[in-house]
Amino acid sequence: VLAIENLYKTFRLGSQVIRALNGVSLSVAGGELAAIMGASGSGKSTLLHMAGGLDLPDSGTVTVEGRNLTNLSDRQRTLFRRQRMGIIFQAYNLLPTLTAEENVAVPLLIDGQAGGRVMSRVAEMIQLVHLEHRTNHRPQAMSGGEQQRVAIARALLNDPALILADEPTGNLDSISAVEVWQLLRRLAHEMGKTVL
Ligand code: ADP
Ligand code: MG
Repeated sequence: VLAIENLYKTFRLGSQVIRALNGVSLSVAGGELAAIMGASGSGKSTLLHMAGGLDLPDSGTVTVEGRNLTNLSDRQRTLFRRQRMGIIFQAYNLLPTLTAEENVAVPLLIDGQAGGRVMSRVAEMIQLVHLEHRTNHRPQAMSGGEQQRVAIARALLNDPALILADEPTGNLDSISAVEVWQLLRRLAHEMGKTVL
């Protein structure tokens, strides 16, 4: 599902040169749950951003479902990401004025899909993450664990080929963190999703 080959990325801050990725290669097979571990500042987020097409490498290739992201235009990459990838961040990144249900619906609404179909898919995903009792809550009225489950439901809405999660439990207490891990494990082991 994901093949990364010989990835290099350098950041320049004034006169400082930071080599964030130095020839990284890895592949993740369908249905696999893989984790990247490393010290803070070792380049994990940079690598995930490249895998999600959120940023481009200096050199090397990123292939998702056989599509080389580094050859796509900005627009094509954005569309491909929205339709084939689900991304989960440490800080949840929900829209504060929308309810749980509306936040989950966002990716399909942006794609201009019709209301009825979207809402039944949203209800299905809300059920999957066990948030039926929070559908009309806004983010600030939910716990961190609940907000992250909303973000996971949103990431799953389009039935993505690849789910990328960057320290998804980093802001959570230990019990909520275990719940989120169990959910990510279920996605891979019971639903055949690919999770990095
Ligand atoms: P990790 O996620 O493993 O903590 P990052 O991928 O965020 O590491 O960062 C790797 C290195 O690249 C760090 O030294 C960080 O300061 C640097 N870095 C990341 N993004 C930028 C950026 N946009 N501009 C400058 N330096 C960056
Ligand atoms: Mg990071």
